[in-house]
Amino acid sequence: MISAPAYDLEKVRADFPILSEEVRGHRIAYLDNAASSQKPRAVLDAVDHVYETGYANIHRGVHVLSERATEHYERSRRRMAKFIGAQSADEVIFVRGTTEGLNLVASSLGRYALGEGDEVLLTGMEHHSNIVPWQMVADLTGAKVVAAPVTDRGELDMDAFAALLNDRTRIVSVVHVSNALGTVNPVEEISRLARERGAYLVLDGAQAAPHLKLDVQRLGCDFYCLSGHKMYGPSGIGVLWGKKRLLEAIPPYQGGGEMIRTVSFERTTYAEPPAKFEAGTPNIAGPAGLAAAADYLDGLGIPEVAGHEARVREYAESRLSEVPGLRVVGTAREKAAVVSFVVDGVHPHDLGTVLDQEGVAVRTGHHCTQPLMERFGVPATARASFGLYNTEAEVDRLAAGLRTALEIFRP
Ligand code: PLP
Repeated sequence: MISAPAYDLEKVRADFPILSEEVRGHRIAYLDNAASSQKPRAVLDAVDHVYETGYANIHRGVHVLSERATEHYERSRRRMAKFIGAQSADEVIFVRGTTEGLNLVASSLGRYALGEGDEVLLTGMEHHSNIVPWQMVADLTGAKVVAAPVTDRGELDMDAFAALLNDRTRIVSVVHVSNALGTVNPVEEISRLARERGAYLVLDGAQAAPHLKLDVQRLGCDFYCLSGHKMYGPSGIGVLWGKKRLLEAIPPYQGGGEMIRTVSFERTTYAEPPAKFEAGTPNIAGPAGLAAAADYLDGLGIPEVAGHEARVREYAESRLSEVPGLRVVGTAREKAAVVSFVVDGVHPHDLGTVLDQEGVAVRTGHHCTQPLMERFGVPATARASFGLYNTEAEVDRLAAGLRTALEIFRP
């Protein structure tokens, strides 16, 4: 038995309407939170509230509904600044999610900071969204993308990382928590090393935001990205945080309405951040849902959520160790709520399909980390990823479903 969480788990589960859905004749056991998490009623209500009481285009109208919509939007920006420990709400840019945040930084910081022969240092456990945008800007600027290796446990090889940092390293961009392995990277140490070399540090916080108490100033990074949909907020909204002086210095990402001060055919001048990076009509209601998700997480207490998830993960690792031929991929000492695994003789997709028949949702595939899969010599893994509402009983159903898969595929 795992010990009880610091909050009332049944009450919390009742906050998430979808968790009482049945799929394939079973109550859903949703263990795919690293891909996207489910939404509490408070988030759904917050989005509805904007549409029902204060919806119009923002920042433009002189009329009441536009003022209300703008107030919802800007209040949410202030809330997210507090959630991540930003010094000012002007440092918070609303984006679609981590992918857009990383593309923005790669394009804008890349064009500002990179030249021929400069290096961008990544790690071998990056999500494709923290690899491909850097390759794209490297093609434009003549810079080179380098990746630090990962150990057999799935930790960043810090000696190799330090050795790869050199005077040509202009940007370091690292995943805070690995989606495929669950590894929590030592980002404060990484930040210290990057600073010593005068490199900018970008952190991909897509998997950190739902599990770790964030303080971007203490982490010592220059840019931080997160996705709302992985932290119980709506999809299509996320945050890119950047240090104010850098947001002022780097060029804009997209051009269009709202990001300008003046436009003429001869010359355009840009608005101050954050408007400079928010061209066009944004996701107007999404930020209110994201702010409600931040309230929800802080209401339970992120350390309490992380404590509960750690207990569920450890219970899962112990139950899965009883499954014959199962190997966990990624056994880092610091881990978030992810268990990636392979089972001898059964393809991960087959495991996922059998589990789905039992109402258990897991992810199978390369998790958008093909270089990492190659590092571990597997084409894919099955991944159970836990959230604040998961239970020991759901883990038992996962273990039982895997045994059913073994009976089918390895009779
Ligand atoms: N980085 C990591 C570590 C992720 O897990 C993901 C999504 O799975 C992303 C980036 C991309 O996030 P999004 O698809 O929300 O833009």
